[in-house]
Amino acid sequence: MLRSISDLDDIQYYGKKVLVRVDFNVNISNGVVTEDYRIRSVIPTIEYLVKRGAKVILASHLGRPKFRDQNNSLAPVAVRLKEILNRNVDFIDDCIGKEVYRKIEKLNFGNILLLENLRYHPEEQNDDPEFCKAIASLADIYVSDAFSTSHRKHASTYGAVKNFDIRLSGFSLKKEIEYLSMIRYNPRKPFTLVVGGSKIKDKIGALENLLPKADKLLIGGAAAYTFLKAKGFKIGDSLFDEEHFDWVTKALSSFGEKILLPVDHIVSSDENSFTTVTGDIPDGMCGFDIGNETSRIFSSEIGGNGFGTIFWNGPMGMFEVGQFAGGTMNVAKSMALAFWRGAMTLVGGGDTIAALKKSGVSESEVTHLSTGGGATLRFLAGDKMPGIEALEQVN
Ligand code: ADP
Ligand code: MG
Repeated sequence: MLRSISDLDDIQYYGKKVLVRVDFNVNISNGVVTEDYRIRSVIPTIEYLVKRGAKVILASHLGRPKFRDQNNSLAPVAVRLKEILNRNVDFIDDCIGKEVYRKIEKLNFGNILLLENLRYHPEEQNDDPEFCKAIASLADIYVSDAFSTSHRKHASTYGAVKNFDIRLSGFSLKKEIEYLSMIRYNPRKPFTLVVGGSKIKDKIGALENLLPKADKLLIGGAAAYTFLKAKGFKIGDSLFDEEHFDWVTKALSSFGEKILLPVDHIVSSDENSFTTVTGDIPDGMCGFDIGNETSRIFSSEIGGNGFGTIFWNGPMGMFEVGQFAGGTMNVAKSMALAFWRGAMTLVGGGDTIAALKKSGVSESEVTHLSTGGGATLRFLAGDKMPGIEALEQVN
């Protein structure tokens, strides 16, 4: 059984050391946090614990440091967290060791301490048993609010967790599981899937689970060309995924009537000039975005589903480049329209969330913005999630 922080009596938190595994793997530039959605998403959990007099100890990874590299320090996150919470946040430059234990002992009830990057210790990613013990001895209670890292079997997400008698999910993790489970098992119909991006490989598991339940699958982005080739279209020099061609062919034969592919494309031979083609893409040309007619069709499919569920992962084109952003921006705005009309809308994926932001659609115009990229797709694929499994209690 998975217990959440609200399942424990308030008094059980008073004066207790609570270790909260968060995912503060955010973008930092020149020592300043530039994207703080992941920080904001765990505020309710932190506030809840603070208000119950817990000593709140926050632990996270950041980037992939090979050594103690200042570029991967969480210090700028402490600064941002302080601003958001309007409370003091202490920071210490390690995550285990005597100094850390001493600092935690001295921490006042209801105060917050952010530990330095867990990955400064390579043992974190190796799920090293000694390191797990050291992490477990930091606190009395373990809380995970890091859905986006729950597909990893690391010390702080897995090995250390079972050493805690009390292990709970935070509000953000709980919300992710609820929304994504709804999509996985019981989406409100009609169910529209919108998939783009570059790698089909990462999405196959999720698509296999969701396609039978979906009413429509709209495919754009580089992923579309492999589908188009399987249908006999010429795709020029567009990205093609030979390795998954057979899977795509099978998906088309089983679910072809649900799958909507682009009918026109913005193509280019050099990324500087561009033009629109309908149907086949000539040799020497590469598709970088869905065309206007496809945009119209996709927009009306998405915007027209104002009653059911829509899940979007993967941009419709190379949206980072201005002239290839149009299709993705239209999809983002259509998602907002569907939301206003009453649809349940879910958006996941690092690049997809960046695209949503670029479109001007606000976070509040989406029912649920998943913090996970890889984790979201794994969960939807039905893969084991060590970080969630470790929280489960036998009784
Ligand atoms: P997410 O991070 O949201 O899961 P992906 O990582 O799967 O999304 O895909 C995002 C990337 O796909 C973007 O960097 C985008 O430029 C790229 N992309 C989308 N369409 C194309 C295309 N037609 N050609 C090349 N790259 C593309
Ligand atoms: Mg990506």
